[in-house]
Amino acid sequence: MGFFSRFSLSRDMGIDLGTANTLVYVSGKGIVLEEPSVVAIDKDKNPLAVGEEAKKMLGRTPGNVTALRPLRDGVIADFYSAEIMLAEFIRRAHEGNPLGNPRMVIGIPSGITGVERRAVVEAAMRAGAREVGLIDEPIAAALGAGLPVTEATGNMIIDIGGGTTEVAVLSLQGTVLSESVRVAGDELTDSIVQYMKKVHNLIIGERTAEEIKIRLGSAYPLPGEDEPMMEVRGLHLMSGLPRTVTIKGEEIRESMSEPLSVIVDAVKRTLERTLPELAADIIDRGIMLAGGGALLRGLDTLISHETGIVTHVAEDPLRCVVKGTGEVLKNQKLLERILSETSRTA
Ligand code: ADP
Ligand code: MG
Repeated sequence: MGFFSRFSLSRDMGIDLGTANTLVYVSGKGIVLEEPSVVAIDKDKNPLAVGEEAKKMLGRTPGNVTALRPLRDGVIADFYSAEIMLAEFIRRAHEGNPLGNPRMVIGIPSGITGVERRAVVEAAMRAGAREVGLIDEPIAAALGAGLPVTEATGNMIIDIGGGTTEVAVLSLQGTVLSESVRVAGDELTDSIVQYMKKVHNLIIGERTAEEIKIRLGSAYPLPGEDEPMMEVRGLHLMSGLPRTVTIKGEEIRESMSEPLSVIVDAVKRTLERTLPELAADIIDRGIMLAGGGALLRGLDTLISHETGIVTHVAEDPLRCVVKGTGEVLKNQKLLERILSETSRTA
């Protein structure tokens, strides 16, 4: 480490390394980067694009280019591209303002293995981190959603991302109980792809299916609203030619019912395993939904209906985890605990 880098102003960083989106928070500045977790590489594995630009290439790449999602199913599916992506996002977050060698707090899916945890730490160190702390996403999400996780009361948070849904009961800054299922936003999108093929003989890509989910999708009939409709373009299964089909919101809700019930079952199982005192707290306080999946219309109603517990959607659910890492950076004691825990375990 040279003289100047040692004495340059060091701003710490919080990162939400999500399966669908990566967000970066810089202390004293706030959220400086929000990009899809996608990397495009050529056939020699040279990176061509990272983030938004790479996402545009998903499903549209010529034979010699691959756009891939390094964290596809809540695990690191491709270590090489995961490291390229993390390094590039850190570089962009630095841009214009050298950050010295920051400490980094990184939110990761709680289901990832020890090897994967180590890989994230090493990638961050190579990208210039001085010290790295890993934090389980549910705790970061709860901090970012403003839940009183430092108190001795039970809180339930459900973080529905792209690849995983994490259901956790938290108390005194710790995870009392958690369950992670590999069914989340991607599976909802995929069931729309399958449905369009089976019922409408229409082949559509992942991006189109995601757009349908966001514009038309719901988890529960919306009170007093007409079911929305949408025209969808794709390729006809038999003729292979482009075709437009009109679909209704109700169909899309039904097409997603299977993955939705997997999510609801994970919530019910976790509630059943919760100690009575904590369960009583959760009944009082309600359940909090975070992650992009929380934006699916009517999901809060579905979960309330199925569990009998009032369910709230966090403010700005896509940013809860990164805001939570920002809260950790502001809390010296918590930061030190997470840094030292990580250096012992990863
Ligand atoms: P991750 O933490 O895994 O990166 P995010 O919390 O960023 O995931 O959420 C991404 C998921 O949220 C994607 O599956 C995306 O399709 C979904 N999503 C984003 N906005 C909406 C919306 N308005 N309605 C339904 N799903 C949404
Ligand atoms: Mg997430």
